[in-house]
Amino acid sequence: MHAVILKRRIGNRVENGHPWIFANEIDQADEAIQPGDIVSVFTPEKKFLGKGYFNPRSQITVRLLTRNEKEEIDDQFFYRRIEAAWTYRKKIGYTENCRLVYGEADALPALIIDKFNDHFVLQTLALGMDRWKPAIVNALTALFQTQKIYERNDVPVRELEGLVQQKGFLSAPFDTNILIQENGLKFGVDLENGQKTGYFLDQQDNRRAIRHIAKDAEVLGAFCYTGTFEIHAAYYGAKSVLGLDISENAILQAKRNAELNGLSHKMEFQAVNAFDVLKQWSRETKKYDVVMLDPPAFTKNRNSIHKALSGYKEINLRGMKLLRNGGFLVTSSCTGLVSPEQFLEMIGSAAKDAGKKLRQVVFNSQSPDHPIIRELENTGYLKFLIVEVSR
Ligand code: SAH
Repeated sequence: MHAVILKRRIGNRVENGHPWIFANEIDQADEAIQPGDIVSVFTPEKKFLGKGYFNPRSQITVRLLTRNEKEEIDDQFFYRRIEAAWTYRKKIGYTENCRLVYGEADALPALIIDKFNDHFVLQTLALGMDRWKPAIVNALTALFQTQKIYERNDVPVRELEGLVQQKGFLSAPFDTNILIQENGLKFGVDLENGQKTGYFLDQQDNRRAIRHIAKDAEVLGAFCYTGTFEIHAAYYGAKSVLGLDISENAILQAKRNAELNGLSHKMEFQAVNAFDVLKQWSRETKKYDVVMLDPPAFTKNRNSIHKALSGYKEINLRGMKLLRNGGFLVTSSCTGLVSPEQFLEMIGSAAKDAGKKLRQVVFNSQSPDHPIIRELENTGYLKFLIVEVSR
């Protein structure tokens, strides 16, 4: 077994449970170690810390897979971990669609698997995990008797690991335009060309949170993607719903989804730049009872958090101005670097500038099939807020 020995000053963070070891934390590594190999990691005193995979090209040189010296990293290991992740999802109430594996939070660093009924979409975001793709595919096939596995590794972070971006079948080919059910509604999902893995499962529970406020409301949904929140609003009794997204493909799918659920008579979707439209409309006299905002992540870089926050403030301020007195703002942020506190503070500051008072209805995070582990700062990223907005 290859050995990696850490420098004296850092042992603690890793000893306390963090699975990442950075390049500058390593004192010695066996010369024979090849990128992607499994290594054993030791403190300077030669105390065993864990086993993980190694990539000298990545800033995160080792990601630990196990703390048990006797546990072999082999095909069975991946089967056991994926089986445990599924057992957990079932325990917390997921049956059809869920994020089955959420990387570090399932002790499978850099592995994402989304389950859409009997279809599986996976991402291996680090070299050491990419190597185990065949084992992961075998585990899914054995656990779910599935023949439908697709790889969405068309993500730039792979390049930091020296991996190429790619997508394609990991099973025999199948129709990648699928239909899923959520909260009793039907949604078409394009596994091959949709955003991320095709569908945003992280909001699946939050979509139910608009149930009561949507009733009889005129609703505006900006950054609607395939119209999931908007179709929920229409289904929950909204009078009319308008969804906006910059992607023509997303808008086409949103319109198909509205039809699939027999709700198109009161829904409209437009392919536009929501920043421009919100700006323009908030100056006019247009008003809604509910405004929903779910923009993409604004930054992945600590140096631009302030810029991201001012972007959030702008759209939220405009959203507030578009509401009738006593209307509801449903607002999300998936920028992991923006903390829940910073997000709430930004909302408060937008309200102040807009001359509005807020009452909080709901403040949530992502759906629990994306488990948050406090010590792993990257696991919690979504903020989901509903506030009543009045003069
Ligand atoms: N609410 C959706 C997810 C939205 S993801 C859901 O729950 O499924 C963010 C969306 O914002 C993407 O669909 C993206 O196409 C869209 N987007 C990005 N920039 C935009 C812009 N300037 N104007 C409108 N939409 C934009």
